[in-house]
Amino acid sequence: MGVPAMEAAGTATGRNTRYMMEGVGARVIRGPDWKWGKQDGGEGHVGTVRNFESPEEVVVVWDNGTAANYRCAGAYDLRVLDSAPTGVKHEGTMCDTCRQQPIFGIRWKCAECSNYDLCSVCYHSDKHNPRHRFYRITTIGCERVLLEPRRKSKKIGIRGIFPGARVVRGVDWQWEDQDGGNGRRGKVSEIQDWSAASPRSAAYVIWDNGAKNLYRVGFEGMADLKVVNDAKGGTVYRDHLPLLGEQNPGRSGPHGLAIGDQVSVRIVPWLLLLSSLFFTRRV
Ligand SMILES: [Zn+2]
Ligand SMILES: [Zn+2]
Repeated sequence: MGVPAMEAAGTATGRNTRYMMEGVGARVIRGPDWKWGKQDGGEGHVGTVRNFESPEEVVVVWDNGTAANYRCAGAYDLRVLDSAPTGVKHEGTMCDTCRQQPIFGIRWKCAECSNYDLCSVCYHSDKHNPRHRFYRITTIGCERVLLEPRRKSKKIGIRGIFPGARVVRGVDWQWEDQDGGNGRRGKVSEIQDWSAASPRSAAYVIWDNGAKNLYRVGFEGMADLKVVNDAKGGTVYRDHLPLLGEQNPGRSGPHGLAIGDQVSVRIVPWLLLLSSLFFTRRV
């Protein structure tokens, strides 16, 4: 492996840059300030954090193939469904139900039992007593957030690239004609780890031509696939998920990455168009 991009980027914006690199690849759903219609495919549909334009703005590729910029400071367009693909892990911890060790992604710690932790998959699938309150721990050294008991909380269904979904090649496809050619379809059979350091960051696909392979869905922010018929990915306690960008430890640092501006110009006009429609309709 080469030099990690975050090191190569230098030290001037080191703290911001590191945070941003850590967020790349996170799987997200729409957040409380969402006002972008059905770009995401509807509430509960999943996308991947592709890159950060600045500490305030992030690019997401939804599983349906739509890509756009969203707000991650001041207003929060996104919630983090799963940060395991980014490689965030909690050394020295273990999920007391599935025994994942260490816990990757968000760590959920029971506030009523001593030394009892769950991983995200187990937390949202109602392992352990649903009347117990939990702390949410997103990264090492960040504040724990005490949550309502799951029993009292709203659950929503998640949809996107999950087992059973029908897919075609996506924006980051670089696997020649393994799929049988552009536009040819396949079926997701399983969500897997692209690498041990990036759990739940890939999908195993059986193409209609009989070929099978593993493709990136989150790994390093990459989207090798696009969904044409999405599938259910279980349910989650929506309001327990952290807002993307909230309590960003790099927030007070220098703002902006000059490199990102060009990308921003390319994607933003579409959103400007949407917001101008919105304002026109208001009168
Ligand atoms: Zn678990
Ligand atoms: Zn407990």
